[in-house]
Amino acid sequence: MGARAGNAPDLRSADRGRMPILFVGHGSPMNAIEDNVFVQRWKSVAESLPKPKAILCISAHWETQGTLVTAMDRPRTIHDFGGFPEELFNVQYPAHGSAWLAKEAKESITHADAGYDEEWGLDHGCWSVMKRMFPRAEVPIVQLSLDYTKKAKDHYGIGKDLLRLRYEDVLIVGSGNMVHNLRRVVLKGSDFNEAFGLDWAIEANELFKKLINEDRHDELINYQHLGSSVQLAIPTAEHYLPMLYVLAAKEETDSISYFNDQPVAGSLTMTSFVLK
Ligand code: ZN
Repeated sequence: MGARAGNAPDLRSADRGRMPILFVGHGSPMNAIEDNVFVQRWKSVAESLPKPKAILCISAHWETQGTLVTAMDRPRTIHDFGGFPEELFNVQYPAHGSAWLAKEAKESITHADAGYDEEWGLDHGCWSVMKRMFPRAEVPIVQLSLDYTKKAKDHYGIGKDLLRLRYEDVLIVGSGNMVHNLRRVVLKGSDFNEAFGLDWAIEANELFKKLINEDRHDELINYQHLGSSVQLAIPTAEHYLPMLYVLAAKEETDSISYFNDQPVAGSLTMTSFVLK
């Protein structure tokens, strides 16, 4: 996408810098259609970003044996949840795929033998956020799966491999929740998103931010040794691992800004950040 003669200069192309990178706490699938403070921040953060050429999304909701990238031209919108209103099942997010990014991502990954996927699509970890950040679905999206046979340090290694894509105008988005324990949910009222956190959830969230701020990634990779609050925060790793991909693609000169730093339903935190 080059600057055309007679138009205002395209600063983004001239700049050729690195793309910011995002970790988004996605929370309830209803965030795809509800208006609330979280989705308002998703929108404002998206508006602050340079326009990406394509998006690589690492969602908590796609676990596979082996590391896969979606390679279809028209990824379907997957409604991978139950018990929600029909309005949510009617949502379609018609973003295109990107053969270019699928190939770039696959070939960038040296910490795994990545393959192409033709069957998945976009799950709600991806589209519920993207629909709010890029409502016109004009940016092509590729999803990268989480290989459930791999250890946290291997996921981190793949994240490091992806760093170079930031210099190709690719926006990398990890979508999960730092603190995510659905078995411990406590609803204070009818609103899942009402701000409320159990002590251990708040403690784990604060510890994660401290370790992130101090670049103590080894400790975040070895999260099983971070104590009982973190064990409750990460009963299974899939909502936490997308954050490791994002942190792995951090460079020393990146600065971090948190947003939606809030617990909900007792046992989740929506804490999100942008690195740029
Ligand atoms: Zn989720």
